[in-house]
Amino acid sequence: MENKIFYQDAYIKSFTAQVMNQGKDSDGKYYIVLDQTAFYPTGGGQPHDMGTIENIKVLNVEDAEGEVRHYLESDLQDVSSPVYGVIDWDRRYDHMQQHAGQHILSAAFEQLYGYKTIGFHLGNEMLTIDLETANLLELEAVKVEELANQIILENRPIETKWVTEDELVHYDLRKETKVKEDIRLVIIPNFDYNGCGGTHPKATGEVQAIKIVDWERQKKKVRVQFVCGNRVVKQFAQKNKVLMELTKLLNAPEKDMVEAVTRLLENSKSMEKELEQSRESLLHNEAKSLLEKGKSENRIVSGVFQNRSIQELQKLARIIIAEDEETIVLIVSQNENRLQLVCARGPAETASMKKVMGNALSTINGKGGGSDAFAQGGGEALISGEQMLQHLLELIQ
Ligand SMILES: [Zn+2]
Repeated sequence: MENKIFYQDAYIKSFTAQVMNQGKDSDGKYYIVLDQTAFYPTGGGQPHDMGTIENIKVLNVEDAEGEVRHYLESDLQDVSSPVYGVIDWDRRYDHMQQHAGQHILSAAFEQLYGYKTIGFHLGNEMLTIDLETANLLELEAVKVEELANQIILENRPIETKWVTEDELVHYDLRKETKVKEDIRLVIIPNFDYNGCGGTHPKATGEVQAIKIVDWERQKKKVRVQFVCGNRVVKQFAQKNKVLMELTKLLNAPEKDMVEAVTRLLENSKSMEKELEQSRESLLHNEAKSLLEKGKSENRIVSGVFQNRSIQELQKLARIIIAEDEETIVLIVSQNENRLQLVCARGPAETASMKKVMGNALSTINGKGGGSDAFAQGGGEALISGEQMLQHLLELIQ
């Protein structure tokens, strides 16, 4: 523990050290071990530090086999001279704010409602804690957030203390400690007593702010999303930007925005419905005129279309054969480099549309299916739409 100097002072941003050894892990990744380090290794829900050692990027820091391994982007050339390490302070300080914020929030949930924290995740954007409760009310979340921010405002000290297992009885711990030796308590006097190996600021004021963002029920627990510290400011800025753009787009002030969007969605729904009805009546008109034309062509209704959806053409065919049961419908649609076909017949006809379709598709590497009465498919536009229709007419004859 003595060589982890972030435990003596969490604010050390740079340091010098001697290389104790270097090696490669089972994945062939190069690392060095130092006689002392300010780099925090992944642990206790807090991600590892980044930064540089001798200007070489530190990609990862892990606690393994009793040593802190600093994984470097490239090999260190000189391992006998002292090395200079610099912590990526923005990243670390963010972690300190988030981690301490989590302590405060978890303690507030427990103090006000007895909801125990049974899980914690510190992500790049968002943090989550899992609460041991089946439900969380909006009012409870508001009250907890209020208390947490009050604790921040009071700028209470955040103390750390190394204790033995026997000494633990003197503290009202929020949860049982995982380790049995080198037990480190993080204490916010008269508020939270908790075993933790992470890095924290020296007072709650540095957490800056806590905002609960959302929560969801998961089986017997509730997962709460929140942010602390500068993330609150950053995310407020992002959300504000989106909101400002939306107020312009919707021409509505922020407070009326939900109403404006609801109206917009309702409008679009009713327009969609109208459009659908118009399309339907257009299809019926189209079917009527095709049928009329088909009467002079041996009751074969045929057509070559451009860029029409197969669903629409199927519908068209269905309308036609429903109108006249002695009709055969042959439709080709050309979509860029593809041909799509619909072959259908009224119940009074006997020719197999499935067979005709199979034959036609074999000439254009196509795929399709259907029944003797109604078949559809598509393939490559190896011939023109007109040529394909001609081919279909010949197959029918
Ligand atoms: Zn902690």
